[in-house]
Amino acid sequence: MNNILLQGINFDAHSSFQQGPAKAPALIRKAFHSDSGNSYSESLDLIDNTVFHDVGDFDIDAYFDIEFITRDNLKQAEKLLTLGGDHSITYPIMKAYREKYESFDILQIDAHSDLYHDFEGNPYSHACPFARILENKLADRLVQIGVRTLTPHQQEQAEKYDVEVITMQDFDPSNLPKFERPVYLSLDMDGFDPAFAPGVSHHEPGGLSTREVLRIIQSINVPIIGADIVEYNPDRDFQEMTAYLGAKMMKEILAKMI
Ligand code: MN
Ligand code: MN
Repeated sequence: MNNILLQGINFDAHSSFQQGPAKAPALIRKAFHSDSGNSYSESLDLIDNTVFHDVGDFDIDAYFDIEFITRDNLKQAEKLLTLGGDHSITYPIMKAYREKYESFDILQIDAHSDLYHDFEGNPYSHACPFARILENKLADRLVQIGVRTLTPHQQEQAEKYDVEVITMQDFDPSNLPKFERPVYLSLDMDGFDPAFAPGVSHHEPGGLSTREVLRIIQSINVPIIGADIVEYNPDRDFQEMTAYLGAKMMKEILAKMI
């Protein structure tokens, strides 16, 4: 059994504003394998430590196919790294994860809390996955970092589901959350400041720097059982800089997962 499996989910049908993230997995992967860099993360050589098996990208016709694909892939590996896709993919991924892992927390890095009960009538919008995850008790704890768009409704939802929201305004890099259960990491590329990640559908200035996100990831004090990198929108990118940022995140997340 391979320890880590890489899957791409080409899906952006639940984006509320712009399509584009369905094209992201292939471009992040291409940046990851580009000869412009070497195979070293900041802590180890990913080629010498290659334990991830790439099963490629899946075109999605029906939303819950994401759950079935993820479930199948979780039979072949302990852990998955998923390239999205819009953020709606995290809900069906967590449905499959919960069957395999009884106890885990989610760390979400995002400009948005994605806690809407529904968004413009769609309960599966990319603005809603964490409401679905929590109402179905698919994780034991949700910690969000980088949020800077909290509405009164989402504030209410956060209180209802005991979400620990670390807003950008309150973010203190010297006081990062500690975990007691394994963690699933969900990285929405719009958690970064758009100066670092212009290739996202929703620009929200005042976000995290690359180094701050790396510090958050590298300081996770428990095993990472899986991760997704979502919301990269190539149509909005500039000189592929967000694809390369996604690839850098892939490297550092893999280094922590191995
Ligand atoms: Mn999101
Ligand atoms: Mn977001």
